[in-house]
Amino acid sequence: MDKIVKKLAVLFLFLLSLLFNMFSSINIPLVLLIFVFIAQFASLFLYGLNKKFYDVHLYFLVAFSFLIPLYPTDYRSFGYFIFLLFPPILMLLKRDTVKSVYALVFSALPTALYLASFFSFTEFFYLSLLASFDIFASFFIFKERKSTEKVKSQFDNYNAKSNLINVSPFMPNKERVMESETSYGRKIISQIEEAVCAIVEIAAKCIDARSVIFMIYDEENDSLFIESGVSSSPINTKKNIAEKNNILYWVVKNRKEISDNLFIGDPKNLCLYPNEEVIRSIIAVPVLYGNHVSGVLFFDSSEENRFTVKNIETTKLFADEISRIFSFAQYAEQAKTEATYLSLLNDFAHKLSRTLVYSEILQIISDAVSSFFTFSHSFVASVEGAQAKMLFSSDKNFSDSFKVENSFLFLATAESEIFYKTNLQKREIPLPVLYRGENLRRIDFALSLPIFQTGGRTDYFIFASDKKNIDIGPAAQIVLNFISDISKTAVEKSMLYEQTRELSIKDGLTNLHNHRYFQEELTKMMNNSKRTGGRLAVALIDIDFFKKFNDTYGHQTGDLVLKHLSKIMSSSVRQTDLVARYGGEEFVIVLSNITQDSPMALLEQIRRKVETTPLAHESLSEPLSVTISIGYSTFPNDSDSKVDIIKMADQALYDAKKSGRNQVKNYSR
Ligand code: GH3
Ligand code: MG
Ligand code: MG
Repeated sequence: MDKIVKKLAVLFLFLLSLLFNMFSSINIPLVLLIFVFIAQFASLFLYGLNKKFYDVHLYFLVAFSFLIPLYPTDYRSFGYFIFLLFPPILMLLKRDTVKSVYALVFSALPTALYLASFFSFTEFFYLSLLASFDIFASFFIFKERKSTEKVKSQFDNYNAKSNLINVSPFMPNKERVMESETSYGRKIISQIEEAVCAIVEIAAKCIDARSVIFMIYDEENDSLFIESGVSSSPINTKKNIAEKNNILYWVVKNRKEISDNLFIGDPKNLCLYPNEEVIRSIIAVPVLYGNHVSGVLFFDSSEENRFTVKNIETTKLFADEISRIFSFAQYAEQAKTEATYLSLLNDFAHKLSRTLVYSEILQIISDAVSSFFTFSHSFVASVEGAQAKMLFSSDKNFSDSFKVENSFLFLATAESEIFYKTNLQKREIPLPVLYRGENLRRIDFALSLPIFQTGGRTDYFIFASDKKNIDIGPAAQIVLNFISDISKTAVEKSMLYEQTRELSIKDGLTNLHNHRYFQEELTKMMNNSKRTGGRLAVALIDIDFFKKFNDTYGHQTGDLVLKHLSKIMSSSVRQTDLVARYGGEEFVIVLSNITQDSPMALLEQIRRKVETTPLAHESLSEPLSVTISIGYSTFPNDSDSKVDIIKMADQALYDAKKSGRNQVKNYSR
C-alpha cells in the first residue's frame, strides 16, 4: 500500500475513534476530553514529523481508542495495557534487544498508572494514563533520533577494527580489461555481466523490495561500484559509492550481511539514488569470493519491517549465485590467459623458426615480451665475468662496454632464468639498469632474459620500463622462461649461421669478401642504383709484376703483400663501397654514388698510397714496395649490363698495363 494512503487511513481511523470516544456513554468533563484529543493528535503529528511511522504503535493506539468505551470502566486500562505490551514482545521476537528495552520502558509509565488506578477508581486516572502514554511516546521518538548518532559511532568502531583485504578480484578492473581486451575477452565479460543482471532481476522478482542493487568491490581502490540494479526508482548505476562511512562498506569490511527493518541511517549516505528516497528496511549481503569480497547485493524498501528472516536467507543464496558466476569468470579468464600464452608461444616459436638473422630474432623476442608489459628501453648485453659488451641498444648514448656492478644487470647475472625487479627508483640509492651513471631516467621496472650462453659468456636481453607496479604473474613467468629457452636455441643457430655465412663469403687470406659475394653484391648495388638513379664505378686492380715478386721473395711474402694491399684498399673506401678479392692477385672495388670525377681521384689516391706505403714485416730485412694497375668502368654510363661492365673494367686494366703499369685507366671505346 502506498505510504501516504496508509498514513491518511490511520489518521482517519484515529480521528474517527476520537469522535467515537467523545460521543460514547462515558461521562467525563469536556475539558479533559479536549486535553486527550490534543495529546493524541500531537503525538500523531510527532510520529509523522519524524518520518518514523511506527505502524505497530499506531495500530494499537487506534484499535484501543475504539475499545475504550466498550470496556467496563474497571477494565479499560487493563485492555490498554495488554495492547501496550505487544510492541516490546514483537521487538523481543525480532531479537532487537535495544529496541525491546526502549519499548518496555515506554510501557512502564502507563503500567505504573494502571496499577495506581486500582487504588483510585476515577475516570480522571484512566484518561491521564492515556494522555501520559501519548506524551511519553512522543518523547521516546525524539530520544530515538539521538540514538542514531550512537549507532553511527558503533559503525565507526567496526570500521576501525576491520582488516583491509588486498587481492583484486576479476570484475572491478573490468573497465580497464574491456579497453585492452580482444573481442573474445569482451564477450566473456559481457556474458558475465548479463548473468549477474539476470540474477539481480530474479532476486527482484522473488523478494518484494523497492530496489535490488549489485555493487562490485574494487579492493585496489577500496571502493564500491554500482554495477547493476532493478528498482522502481532511478539508481546511480555505473557510479562509485563515494561515502565510505556507511553500512555498505561495513558489509565489505566485516564480510557479514546486515539487515535492518527499522533503518534509521541517512539514505543519502548510501549514494544509491540520485533523488531523495526514504529507506526503512534494508538487507545488504556480501558476495564472497574465497576470503575476499567481490561485491555487495543490496535490497531495500521504503516501508519498515519489509523483510522476513526467510528473505534474508534467500538473498544469501543469490549472493552465492553471483559469487559462482565470478568463479566461473575467473576460470574463464585463467583459461583465456593460458590459451593466449600458448598461442603467443606457438606464434613466437613459429616466427623464430623462419629466420636465422640475429636482428630479426631480437625483434621477435622483443615483440613477444611486449605482450606482457610495455617497455621504453631494451638492450642486449653480453656479459663475461665482470665485463659487459653492448650488442644492441634501443637508445643512443650508451657505452659499448662497461663494468657489471651495482646494477640490475649485476643481480640478473646471478640468475640462470628470467629475472625482474620493480621499484628500482624507490630505494635510498636508485638501482641503475646497466651501470651507474647510465643515461636512463625514471626507470622503475626491468626484466632480463638470458638469450645466449657459451662458455663463460651470457647474453641478456634487458627490458626497462618507467611504469610502476608492473606485475609478472606466475603463468607469465613460465612463459617468459620458455621464451628465454627457445631464444637461446634460436640465437645459437643464428650465430652458427652467421659464422658459416661469413666463411662462405669471405676470403680466408685477406679477410676481404670473395668473388662470389662480389658478384651477388654487384647485382644488388646495380639494382639499387637503377632505383635511385645513382652511379657506380667498378674498378679491377692487378699487382704489377707479381709473378716476379713471388719468384724473388717467395710466395709467403707475396701473401703478405696481398694482405697489406687489402688493408690499404679497405681503409681507403667508404662503408657503402665494396672491396673484394677478385681472384689470385686481383682485386675489385665497387664505388657507389660517384660523381663524374670522383672514381679517378679516389683510385689514383689508392694507387699512390700502395706505391708509397712499402710492406714492412719482421720476416723482411727491408721494406718492400709494389705497385698496382687499376682499370675502371662506370655504370650506367658505359653499360647497364653487369657482365659488360666487368669486361670493360678488365679492358681498362689491360690498357693500364699496356701503358706502362702503376696507373689508373678509365674505360674508353
Ligand atoms: P702483370 O704486371 O702483367 O700483372 O704481371 P704479373 O706477373 O703480375 O702477371 P699476372 O698478373 O699474370 O700474375 C699472376 C701471378 O700472381 C701468378 C702468381 O704467382 C701470383 N699469384 C696469384 N695468386 C697468388 C696468391 O694467392 N699468392 C701469391 N703469393 N701469389 C699469387
Ligand atoms: Mg693478374
Ligand atoms: Mg699482376
